[in-house]
Amino acid sequence: MRCPFCNEAETKVIDSRLVSDGDQIRRRRECLSCAERFTTYEVAELLMPRIIKSNNVPEPFNESKLRSGVQKALEKRPVSIETIDTAVNHIKHALQSMGEREVPAMKIGELVMEQLKEIDHVAYVRFASVYRSFQDLDEFRQEIDKLSNE
Ligand SMILES: [Zn+2]
Repeated sequence: MRCPFCNEAETKVIDSRLVSDGDQIRRRRECLSCAERFTTYEVAELLMPRIIKSNNVPEPFNESKLRSGVQKALEKRPVSIETIDTAVNHIKHALQSMGEREVPAMKIGELVMEQLKEIDHVAYVRFASVYRSFQDLDEFRQEIDKLSNE
């Protein structure tokens, strides 16, 4: 970490402690060249992007919606809860690692399809054939609900 006073590249950490209930690390640093001290804060950036729906309205990422979309696609398929959890975690991780603040809802659908392809081919084909004609998981779920009510 460069010294903000003299721009020296070498600074040393003289104190390091957890703050805000352990969500942050506060570090006191001292410059090896000019001996000035300064503070840095370190936080984990694991924000989920907002989801842009087909009507262009953004909404917060909703894990339970994602999970129920994946579950619907895998309904009556021999797939364990653990497998569904793993798929949901993969999708969340993929969204986080994109590093975008906003992601189109279609992107989530594509990520779901990638996971289903690995897990269960029947569910994949079912999801892909139906989902492609919809804009997002909400519409997909409504359609599946209609089908199962008939
Ligand atoms: Zn310095």
